[in-house]
Amino acid sequence: MTLVHNNSVSAFQKAVTLIPGGVNSPVRAFGNVNDTPVFYDHARGSKVWDVDGNCYTDFICSWGPLIFGAGDETVLSAVKQQLDKGVSFGAPCMAELQLAQKIVDVVPGVEEVRMVSSGTEATMSAIRLARGLTQRNKIVKFAGNYHGHSDSLLVSAGSGVATCGIPDTPGVTAATASDTMVARYNDAASLEELFAAHGNDIACVIVEPVSGNMGVVPPEKGFLESIRALCTQYGALLIFDEVITGFRLALGGAQEYFGIEADLCTFGKIIGGGFPVGCIAGKRQFMEGFAPVGSVYQAGTLSGNPVAMVAGYAQLSKLQQAGSVFYDELARKCSFIASSLRTFCAEHEFPVQVNNIGSVFTLFFSSQPVCNWDSASRCNTKQFAHYFSSMLDAGFLIAPSQFESVFISAAHTQEDCEAFVEAACRALQRVPW
Ligand code: PLP
Repeated sequence: MTLVHNNSVSAFQKAVTLIPGGVNSPVRAFGNVNDTPVFYDHARGSKVWDVDGNCYTDFICSWGPLIFGAGDETVLSAVKQQLDKGVSFGAPCMAELQLAQKIVDVVPGVEEVRMVSSGTEATMSAIRLARGLTQRNKIVKFAGNYHGHSDSLLVSAGSGVATCGIPDTPGVTAATASDTMVARYNDAASLEELFAAHGNDIACVIVEPVSGNMGVVPPEKGFLESIRALCTQYGALLIFDEVITGFRLALGGAQEYFGIEADLCTFGKIIGGGFPVGCIAGKRQFMEGFAPVGSVYQAGTLSGNPVAMVAGYAQLSKLQQAGSVFYDELARKCSFIASSLRTFCAEHEFPVQVNNIGSVFTLFFSSQPVCNWDSASRCNTKQFAHYFSSMLDAGFLIAPSQFESVFISAAHTQEDCEAFVEAACRALQRVPW
């Protein structure tokens, strides 16, 4: 099959004259896979239709939030009801309470929640809170982890920053960057060294408990436990950035899955059912550092937007009702795809690694195991681009970058998963090894 993209191509030609690079988020650009982006028209369940009328099976899922697939009826009906009641209040409303209560009920250790409008705002505010509470300036993040695009967190970031190859973004001052220290993912000793040298200056450690933004890299045994212990030892706050893992790895996110409690955690997209939402959550003693109780300022006109709140509440309630069998089924589909690809590549001696956990996986074009940014960055991105193009042409949407996750939703049928495996095997045979 060779799909025709004429309408997408002409839309993109217009887009580049109106929007930098034609996209409102660099990860949507197809530059690294030598193509022009597909312009979506509509989506339902596991399918997306583009402006040329092509139909794809979608394994991007809006970069995670669409855990039930596109156009979930429960979410849609909550949104439709709210539209008649009001789309924006800029004032307290009951929908905020419902969503906050849901998060408090299911995420271990969480007592209070502050709503924002994106994952970026959530992590930016969480580190401000940590700095305010500890009266310390430095923070630690891990190379290849992505926490949104606030200045302090762009240092050595994954996702689009890694895809575009801009580790030190112009516009972030040297002074800001120097307060962000970088450790190696899955290497607790590298964090220990930073604490040994700067322990009294470190306000917090922020980590993706499962790294999703250098591609999927699960934590090795003991890694998260070591971070927890070091933070406690040195009086630094531990922040789990659960923008990807939250309500996806398990209902209670990575904290439930790994049995480790962070001091603060951040959630994004998935808690809005596809609408723009994020939140900072954690123990009362820390959360009450935020104004108006405490003096760490944090605000937002659209924070707690009622449409986003009811969408999120509908989605999280549905997840809660579905229970652990739901998560087991997502993981089963994901591991079916991952293990099928692993077996096929082993038989053909293709040098790839397949990392999977829960409902996310990444196929890395590397002969070596991928456990941190050093190993992820050695992947062959040209081979990935060949694979991506074949998958697109076969009608499968995956992120146009080696350094992202493939997302499985409840809308993916076993047939979708088998078709994905078949297409991926054909695509892999066409890669110039
Ligand atoms: N943190 C993580 C782990 C993410 O994956 C992302 C985005 O993908 C963010 C933070 C930033 O969220 P947003 O794009 O909503 O600002």
